[in-house]
Amino acid sequence: MLRVIFGLGSNLGDRAANVAEALRLLDECPGIKITRVSSLYESAPVDFLDQADFINAAAAAETELRPEDLLAVTQRIELEMGRVKTIDKGPRVIDIDILLYDIVEVRLPDLQVPHPRLRQRAFALVPLLEVAADAIFPTGEPVRWAIADIDLDSVRLYEGC
Ligand code: ADP
Ligand code: MG
Repeated sequence: MLRVIFGLGSNLGDRAANVAEALRLLDECPGIKITRVSSLYESAPVDFLDQADFINAAAAAETELRPEDLLAVTQRIELEMGRVKTIDKGPRVIDIDILLYDIVEVRLPDLQVPHPRLRQRAFALVPLLEVAADAIFPTGEPVRWAIADIDLDSVRLYEGC
């Protein structure tokens, strides 16, 4: 059994409910068992700035699935939940990223794990470390070391409403 860490984000509709629904659908999937869910965080958008703030969370799961099968699952759930590709990096009902797949490095054309932008994104790193403080990159470096290089003020605990 391997440990996968998912990163989730939503900035359309009922953002907290969307994250909860995505977690329910992931856990319902054969071969994926969610073991830990982070608090909800709120973060300002990056890349495409003219859009609403995101709610972010991370979840740890045990899985028997291969990384490419996990990507197929996350993309199916994104579509099922009504994610429509409009603007690149724009508003989305739900975004599910595979942040880490145990200590395995994946370099496929449509899937790179660890997620290529994990190190720069406080909204991914902070929830990830809440559910997997012991996580290490495939290089052997503890993920928590990356926290020194990012702006922690860009992500805050979400208190609701
Ligand atoms: P982002 O999550 O960076 O905002 P998208 O959700 O629009 O961007 O993802 C675009 C593409 O990223 C997907 O089509 C997928 O193939 C690719 N991708 C590469 N690595 C990963 C990963 N680790 N997790 C999720 N998607 C990934
Ligand atoms: Mg994504």
